Amino acid sequence: QGAPNGLGSAIGSAAKAHFVFVPLMFQGHVIPAVDTALLLATHGALASVVATPYNAARIRPTIDFARKSGLPIRLVELPLDCAAEGLPEGADDVDKIPLGLEVNYFRALTLLTEPLERHLRAHPPYPTCIVSDFYHAWTVQVAANLKVPRLCFFSMCAFCVLCQHNVERYNSYDGVADDNEPVVVPGVERRIEVTRAQAPGFLRAPGFEKLADEIELALAESDGIVMNSFMEMEPEYVTGYAAARKMKVWTIGPVSLYHQHAATLAKRGNTTTATDADESLRWLDGKEPSTVVYVSFGSIVHADPKQVVELGLGLEASGHPFVWVLKNTDLYGEDVREFLRDLEERVAGRGMLIRGWSPQVLILNHAAVGGFVTHCGWNSTLEAIAAGLPIVTWPHFSDQFLNEKLAVEVLGIGVSVGIKEPLMWVAKKEIVVGREVVEAAIRSIMDGGGEGKERRRKALALSEKARTAVQKGGSSLANLLDLIKHFELDAGGCTAVQKDA
Ligand code: UDP
Repeated sequence: QGAPNGLGSAIGSAAKAHFVFVPLMFQGHVIPAVDTALLLATHGALASVVATPYNAARIRPTIDFARKSGLPIRLVELPLDCAAEGLPEGADDVDKIPLGLEVNYFRALTLLTEPLERHLRAHPPYPTCIVSDFYHAWTVQVAANLKVPRLCFFSMCAFCVLCQHNVERYNSYDGVADDNEPVVVPGVERRIEVTRAQAPGFLRAPGFEKLADEIELALAESDGIVMNSFMEMEPEYVTGYAAARKMKVWTIGPVSLYHQHAATLAKRGNTTTATDADESLRWLDGKEPSTVVYVSFGSIVHADPKQVVELGLGLEASGHPFVWVLKNTDLYGEDVREFLRDLEERVAGRGMLIRGWSPQVLILNHAAVGGFVTHCGWNSTLEAIAAGLPIVTWPHFSDQFLNEKLAVEVLGIGVSVGIKEPLMWVAKKEIVVGREVVEAAIRSIMDGGGEGKERRRKALALSEKARTAVQKGGSSLANLLDLIKHFELDAGGCTAVQKDA
């Protein structure tokens, strides 16, 4: 009963629990949530993924592919009422949210409360658990109305969330007037310094005060945490965060390792890869092992025109083959577009530009790739770790500064270009990293030498640990199975954390 859309008995009999994922509709949040849903479905649970239409279209190929292979996974598409919050139509594509109306977007999301509850009641089997992105405080109401537990999903690492939590819990910024003055993170053994500019708190920005408070409250009251990280990489921070929050933390990553096949990897994240995945892999096939630098700043960052030029010249000067991903190049003026065309001619055969979406994980795992220049989005950082690559760290905003600290200071796999404050959204000044700095950073991760060798050794050792974690007997797989068991309908596991049923 209740098996929708031809899934037949797979759901009725094999599914042990029904996890409803509600990701934040940014690629860096949707991608790991979908991967986690796929992992749960692979191990017999039913997983539903909630998305607004624009995002649903992006992930539908992945979900359809999984369903065709018999996995119990569903896509729940719910329209976003943009007009109700004064947003233009189509603003569920987060690239189309007008500047200054970001808070309206978050308010529009809260309007999904009632439609989601209605949908879940009308489409059995009844959910056993909501796995909500921690930014969605409104899902507290959905879970409460349905009388089911609510877990928070983090596409962030424990190091980051613990450091952020501790500076807030111990009021470390009190009396610190300058946003760029470092404070020492309390409650962690290693000496880590951050500034308010780098770690202000999630959504702690003007206009978002109420939302940020609601997020913190919803997090503090959640029934557990699911995190795309793995225990062996950061044991003290995972256990530290679980203790600080007094809740269970299931580390189940790196979730990108779910994808064992090029077919699912090429579909991951987007329906329209700018480049044919086979073509980029063929290009890489012609390069020597570990010689190519991959450069990408993720799904949100759109580099400043001056920065594009300096980065391009730095790459050229480094002498290394490279794959460079640029987003929305049509938004640049003719001067930048011409610069890119000229650069392509000069480095023909040595450098490849991808304009748009790249099959990132496929590229990172190609034997020819030897390093990654990244903005330190957590997914990209963890994907580099899973692939055993040293990184050049170039944070732009949000958790990226703390991810950089983890990579450079704790794990010893990164070289920083030296950015100390946000480059977008809340940026205070124009900062351009010069071509010489780019060249030097690339050389130091790619050109061997004592320190370079040590970084690469550490990156490879971490990759081994990451791969072990997701295999039989590994910590992440054990946590994933435990998560399912915890919420198994028959075992009554969910009542253990159910607050008000
Ligand atoms: N990604 C991709 N192709 C691209 C850009 C990004 O596959 O051209 C994926 C990348 O592999 C990662 C995610 O999108 O899984 C980006 O998440 P991250 O946390 O690194 O950064 P964000 O986009 O949130 O800033």
